[in-house]
Amino acid sequence: MRDRALLMIPGPIEFEPEVLQALGAPTTSHVSPEFIEIFGESLEMMRDVWLCPSGQPFVVAGSGMLALEMAVVNLIEPGDKVLVLNTGVFGDRYADLLRRYHVDVSVLRAPLGETISPQQVEDELKKQRYKLMTITHVDTSTGVRTDAKLLATIARKYNVLSVLDGVCSVAGEELRQEEWGIDVALTASQKAIGVPPGLALMVAGPRAIETWRGRKMPVSNYYADWENWLPIMEAYEARKASYFATPPVNLIYALNVSLKRILEEGMEERFKRHQRFGRACKEAIQALGLDQVPTDLAHSAATLTAPYYPRGVIGSEFLPKVRNAGVILAGGLHSEIKDEYFRIGHMGGETSGDLLATIGAIEAGLKGCGYEFELGAGVSVAQRVLRS
Ligand SMILES: *Cc1c(COP(=O)(O)O)cnc(C)c1O
Repeated sequence: MRDRALLMIPGPIEFEPEVLQALGAPTTSHVSPEFIEIFGESLEMMRDVWLCPSGQPFVVAGSGMLALEMAVVNLIEPGDKVLVLNTGVFGDRYADLLRRYHVDVSVLRAPLGETISPQQVEDELKKQRYKLMTITHVDTSTGVRTDAKLLATIARKYNVLSVLDGVCSVAGEELRQEEWGIDVALTASQKAIGVPPGLALMVAGPRAIETWRGRKMPVSNYYADWENWLPIMEAYEARKASYFATPPVNLIYALNVSLKRILEEGMEERFKRHQRFGRACKEAIQALGLDQVPTDLAHSAATLTAPYYPRGVIGSEFLPKVRNAGVILAGGLHSEIKDEYFRIGHMGGETSGDLLATIGAIEAGLKGCGYEFELGAGVSVAQRVLRS
């Protein structure tokens, strides 16, 4: 009997065997010709995944939080005004992080489960001159997706830099960085990129690089300073050896494998598949009679689903039952409703079979908790959407 369960949380996700094999291979020197080629090629592929042909990719060892920090510290200087668009926990994080750098932070907070109102953003940008605005594309604590295209367009109209926290979206949700005018779009390896945790990834557009070059003060964070990293990225892309800090060699081999698989699928097909999976999961959850944290399907993520427990079901009973049925899900993260909901991740290379098994395991968990519904109702709806 297979002992392991499907990991259907919003990161880390299920990884492809080929990606895991790259991690287990003997480690090469970080300046070997073989590795230089793999790193250079990975940087080139990132432009195609982010859809940002004129962007500058960065790959550094660290988690998504480092990517959040690196994206902004290179652009802000003490006293700058920054607007944080908050649709959940990761908006709170961005505001906390920014306050450490002596900038003037304002927050526009959407009510729980709602998305950001573009009108409100426009009113705020009209009122005051901001240097930079952060947008969480998908907040993993609420499952809310913002309209990144529209919000970035508004930022551009007021000449404000836009930084997109795409940790739960890049390579899953539709994202066209260059066309949408997003200045930095960042993510981490363990979500839709499909590589175990450990890489902070971002692509910076020309306006961001230009702003960084025009700084008056040095960057206040040594490790995250593009001054240290840009020459390294440029060297590897030119297929030359260079060193600032040892790159996570095996993770970059794994990244290379995963980016190739992503581009083999094609970005347009990948966006469509994630939309289809998102809709299948959400409609299945609806069919089971469960409410969801996002107040409207129109602003719900394709990459994860956040259902409320039905009356009489509690997480500490439900989640272990789902685990016994072969699937690992995540509990709540948002402090206001932490024990009232759970989260299902469905991104990256996860298959329709994985999703159907997940809905089946959720049904088993709900039945085990005494919740009344017609067994198979969720699975049959998911099947229908997946085959449509
Ligand atoms: C997961 C996540 C992060 C944090 O990434 P870590 O790798 O856990 O540091 C930040 N923002 C969003 C939207 C995320 O989903």
